Amino acid sequence: MKDDDKSKAQIEEALHKSEQQYRLISENASDFIYKMKIPEGIYEYASPSSLAVLGYSPQDLYQNPLYIQTIIHPDFRPYLQEQWQAILDGKEPKTFEYQVVDKEGNVRWLSQTNSYLKDETQRITHLIGIVRDVTDYKHTEEKLERQNRLFNTLLENLPVGVFMVESPTGKPLIANEQAKILLGRGILPDVTDVTLATVYEAYQYGADQPYPMHKMPIIRGMYGEKSHIDDMKVIRPDKTDVLLEIFGAPVYGKDNQVVMSLVSFVDITERKQAEIALQESTEKLSALFASMTEMVALHELVFDEQGAPVNYRITDCNRAYTQITGIHKETVVGRLATEVYGTPEAPYLQEYSRVAINGEPYYFETYFAPLDKHFSISVVSPAKNKFATVTADITAIKRVQQIIAAQNKELEQLVYIASHDLRSPLVNVDGYSRELEFELQELLDLLSAPNASPEALQRALNAKSLEIKEALSHIRSSARKMDALLKGLLKLSRNGRAALNIRPLDMTKLTADLLRTLDYQVKAAGAQIQIFPLPPCKGDETQLAQVFTNLIDNALKYRHPQRPALIAIRGSVENGRAIYCVEDNGIGIAKNHQEKIFELFHRLDPSKTEGEGLGLTIVRQALSRLDGEIRVESTPGEGSRFYISLPATGLPGIYPA
Ligand code: ADP
Repeated sequence: MKDDDKSKAQIEEALHKSEQQYRLISENASDFIYKMKIPEGIYEYASPSSLAVLGYSPQDLYQNPLYIQTIIHPDFRPYLQEQWQAILDGKEPKTFEYQVVDKEGNVRWLSQTNSYLKDETQRITHLIGIVRDVTDYKHTEEKLERQNRLFNTLLENLPVGVFMVESPTGKPLIANEQAKILLGRGILPDVTDVTLATVYEAYQYGADQPYPMHKMPIIRGMYGEKSHIDDMKVIRPDKTDVLLEIFGAPVYGKDNQVVMSLVSFVDITERKQAEIALQESTEKLSALFASMTEMVALHELVFDEQGAPVNYRITDCNRAYTQITGIHKETVVGRLATEVYGTPEAPYLQEYSRVAINGEPYYFETYFAPLDKHFSISVVSPAKNKFATVTADITAIKRVQQIIAAQNKELEQLVYIASHDLRSPLVNVDGYSRELEFELQELLDLLSAPNASPEALQRALNAKSLEIKEALSHIRSSARKMDALLKGLLKLSRNGRAALNIRPLDMTKLTADLLRTLDYQVKAAGAQIQIFPLPPCKGDETQLAQVFTNLIDNALKYRHPQRPALIAIRGSVENGRAIYCVEDNGIGIAKNHQEKIFELFHRLDPSKTEGEGLGLTIVRQALSRLDGEIRVESTPGEGSRFYISLPATGLPGIYPA
């Protein structure tokens, strides 16, 4: 074999080998590779896998090269025509993308990369095309783009500032509009201008103490840590400030490495102000609640299965509640009214449920016997089916009202006395003095008569002297009556102004002492007095001595003529009051007089006994000044019982025997 034959054979061999390798690659490639003769457009080679995806075989192409054109999507035909022309014109080959319709009618995306084969004269002889089905990629790309758009829209419309940096470089990636607004454009003018240092400065602005860089949420995110700052004050470049709540979080890549760090922040200035305002008003309210002298209690209604209110539960109460009722908060909160007050029905349920259901406030006054107190109760509803009661102890006011009423009555009586009782003696004085005047005039006329004789004058004088004496006697008795009335008024007034020394009194001893001073009268009346053990009370010794003296005095004075007088003094304690009873077996008092006997100068039978009709008026006056009361029960012909009530001291039922 010649040398050049040998080398030719070698070359051919090599060529064959390379062609085989090339074929092997192209036939096993997933891309569709073809070789086309130019300008004829005849396929000289088409790789087998090639158009299988589209449902065509290389044979289809060899037999009908135009086949490929029919599968091109009509929208791309003019475009591909242009590309084909560029190839024929020998223009620089390029990659183009277009759509085709596969055998089943599905639209698919192809991407085609072209290159030329040339002969020795550099003439383009063939086109090598590598076509790839990029449908999936295109779909992914579209999906990605849609997601990007969604992400961007979301980011720009969020009322939350978002800032993101790359990890580990710290290069800023994203800052949304809200981030720029919240931090101030001076800090985040454009994300590309921002460095971590400028953001760090922003944080620094507001912190009272320099905020450690490594604790910044954006930095912690780069280290894979989530973080949260409750509130951080940031002062913006324009000197306005904003309170931010900041959340930081890392963003992980596929290999679980942190690729980004993200912070989001919201403006909590208003929320904080509202929180502070709320806290302040809550504090004020609870201070008020605690310091109020009125009892305040909150309740909620309890309903039965039919939805009717049947009870209420106490949900809170203040200090005054405990002070007044002696019931501790811990023992009432959460419990039902019936349990707390030990009543079969919840007190004032009807009134309270009306308020809790309709929301209309209600006010009423009531007397609470177990505590012997008067209360005013304001009921308001803070929420549906709930109500609050503000209860004030108005016992003192009530007593003052009673005193004023009693004093008014007394005043009325005084006016009545002045106008009536004092008037009748005055009328007498006036009438008899007129008569005197008349008699005197007659005598003067007689004297001045020209023919008046001393004898006639003497006679006339004798005749008139009796009438004159009588008139003078009437005038004097009227004057005495007026004097007695005025003295009585004065006594009453003095008694009403006497200084009081109110203290606990041993009433058994007080009445026993009194009895000793009345010993003479008792014996003279042939009476018997029995004193039972009496409970102590709060009062003034002098005033109460006068009260009991008057009552015993009357019992002796108004004794029954047909039987020896029996007088008993008893006592008991009821509802925080000491009750005393002075009982006699005397003449008794008719029903229609029983209230009148306490009136000034009122006497039933003035002619029969001595008296001013002042004793019981003074008794009632003295008792009313001591927060006491008096009432009478009596049966004419049988006897009377005078009941006195006074504030008790000590324990109920325990008093010296
Ligand atoms: P006085 O005894 O000076 O008349 P009081 O004010 O003490 O004045 O009494 C008023 C009236 O009440 C008496 O006049 C009497 O008619 C009646 N009275 C008072 N106490 C009794 C009594 N124990 N029994 C019957 N009548 C009484």
